[in-house]
Parts: sequence; C-alpha cells; structure tokens
Amino acid sequence: MPVRKRTASKAATTRKKKTSTSARSSKTGKAGKTAKTAKTAKAKKPTTSNKKPAARSSRTSPPLLAPVVHRPQATTILRTASEVQARMLQARAAGATIGFVPTMGALHDGHAALLDEARRRADVVVASIFVNPSQFGSAHDLAAYPRVLDTDVALCARCGVDYVFAPDADEIYPPGFDTKIVAGALARDLEGRDRPGHFDGVVTVVSVLLSIVQPHFAVFGEKDYQQLLLVRRLVKDLRLPVEIVAMPVIRDVDLVALSSRNVRLSPEQRERARALSRAVVAGQDALQRGETASTVILDAARSVLAGAPGVDVHYVEVRDSRHFLPVMRVEKEARILVAATVGGVRLIDNGPLFPGVTWSA
Ligand code: AMP
Repeated sequence: MPVRKRTASKAATTRKKKTSTSARSSKTGKAGKTAKTAKTAKAKKPTTSNKKPAARSSRTSPPLLAPVVHRPQATTILRTASEVQARMLQARAAGATIGFVPTMGALHDGHAALLDEARRRADVVVASIFVNPSQFGSAHDLAAYPRVLDTDVALCARCGVDYVFAPDADEIYPPGFDTKIVAGALARDLEGRDRPGHFDGVVTVVSVLLSIVQPHFAVFGEKDYQQLLLVRRLVKDLRLPVEIVAMPVIRDVDLVALSSRNVRLSPEQRERARALSRAVVAGQDALQRGETASTVILDAARSVLAGAPGVDVHYVEVRDSRHFLPVMRVEKEARILVAATVGGVRLIDNGPLFPGVTWSA
C-alpha cells in the first residue's frame, strides 16, 4: 500500500470530526464506549445536542496548532490480527491516516511521547502491546518482563489511542509459523553482540506487526537507537510503504532514561543507574569543550562509569548517527551509546553528539 500524504484540508476535516466525537463522549459520560473510526465519525451527522463549541467549528477560526490534549477517550482493545485488519481497512477506506506505535507494554512517559506524536500526526492511532518472545535470549528475562495491560490501556486512553492491539504469542506466531527475518551487519555489534538473535526477533516481529496494521507511519524511540536504525534498514530493504518517525529519549527528573525495566531496580540500584546518563553527559560535555577525538569523549564517559560501584559496563561507544560506524573524530552528528547491568537489570542509554552545538542530555 502506498504511503499516503495527508492533505491539510483532509487532516483538518478529520481532526474536527474526531474532536467532535471525543467531546461528545465526555459530555455524555460515554468515555468507555468503543472508539469510532474516521469512517464512522464521517458517516454520523452531529445532532443538535452534540454540537461542538462554535469557536472550534467555525470556518473562520484560526487554524489550530494541534496541541496534544490528554483527555479520556474510548480506546478499543483488539486481540486478533483479523480484527485489526478489518478496522484498518475501514479507516483507510475513509481516507484516515494511520499512525502506529509498537511497544512491549509496561508503558511510561517515554512511550507516551511516542503516542502523543502519533496522535498529533494521525487520524487513527494504533498501539501494540506485545512482549515478543523471539527477541529475548533468556526465558528468565522474558518471564520477568513486566506485564500490566490494564494500566497500559489506561495510559493509551489518556494519550488518545484509538486501538490497542494486544495479541497472545500464538496470534503473532501461530502453529506452523516458520519464517524469520535476519538482521544484517548493523545488528552484529553493541546490543547485537551482547544479545545474539535479539535483533532478528525484533525485525521479524516489526515486519509482522507492520503487515497487520499497515500504518502510514510508525513511531520509534531513539532510546533504542540501534533498533531504530535496523527498523529503518528493514523498511528500506523490504520497500515497506511506511514512514518511520523517531522521537528523542525521554528521561526522568534525575536524567535516567525511562525504561520498563527500571521498575526492577531497588532505590539503591536506581541511584547507581544514574551513572549511565551521567556517562552520556560526560561524553557530550567533552565534545562541547572542543574534544572531538572519540577516544577523549569515550574516556570522559568511561571514567564516570568506572567511579560507579555496582555498574557492570557492557560497552561505551561512539558511532556515526546514520550508519552506526565507529568514528575517530566527531565532525558530523554522532551518538554516544552505553550499556550496563545494574542489580541484574540490563540498561541502555545514548545521546547525540553534535559538533559545535551547545547541548545537554
Ligand atoms: P519497548 O516497549 O521497550 O519495546 O519500547 C517501545 C518503543 O518505545 C520503542 O520504540 C522504544 O525505543 C520507545 N521508548 C522506550 N523508552 C523510551 C524513552 N525513554 N524515550 C523514548 N522512547 C522510548
């Protein structure tokens, strides 16, 4: 399916209709009602009692900047691929733009930023919540991954997600499923070296999910920077008609990158985990002082980690932002990436290195 560019007028029309729908729901206390697709919204004429406030419906109103409004909204949970396909068919037939955010659940504000971005850009927003067994190397890690569907759905509703796709493993990998996509050279080091087979699992499940949802765009976080590049590669290589939108790393107030795994850290381990973001910042600071040599930037980051007790470092690397190749000097945009285990929990972090630009993580 070709990637469709939403025209300004179509976007505005559909957005106006969606606003009307959700305003109606909250006004009439029907927040739990099933979300409507753009088609349904289009077909239904507002009754007198359901009219939008005049200022928003007026043709002469200035264009809205589409702020993210966290409002209770009906969110429908779909369990099967065929249900998703049917709803998406309807939405596409109505000319709606579909935005997709794949996740493994245990959602936090990092995920919310992706969902907000999808909400800003799309008429219909789909989030998937699927703890993908094929990307876990250890059964223990898979079993320990937090699963909190009810709170996840509540967060999705607050972010205005229309559909949560929460399939069982058998729905994604039915009996007889026997195809795997093998990620290429990009997957061989850093996370790929530490977690053999991990990225094959990631690109395979992303392919399956994209085939089911067939969104116009999908949003991924830079938190998993190597994964983001691999997904871009996948989409390019397989000519998948989807735009990949990237969002920056969202951090807690103490600068620790938000992660579903953070809940497994004790308060003391959490304190230790700050070393990862401090290492990233130390590398960025070194660049800001004019140290463009990767060795110097890396030394600055490593010395932070070396001074942090209970932090088992897997790697600290500087890579170019687009091809993920090692760089001797940071003369173009690059990335500093860190992975470490704290209290048995594997954590990753990274940040941009912009030569000649003032920056803090
Ligand atoms: P996960 O549920 O961990 O598979 O993550 C789902 C998506 O959310 C991925 O694209 C992640 O990169 C993104 N994500 C997770 N944590 C963050 C964060 N702290 N900031 C930005 N994006 C994030």
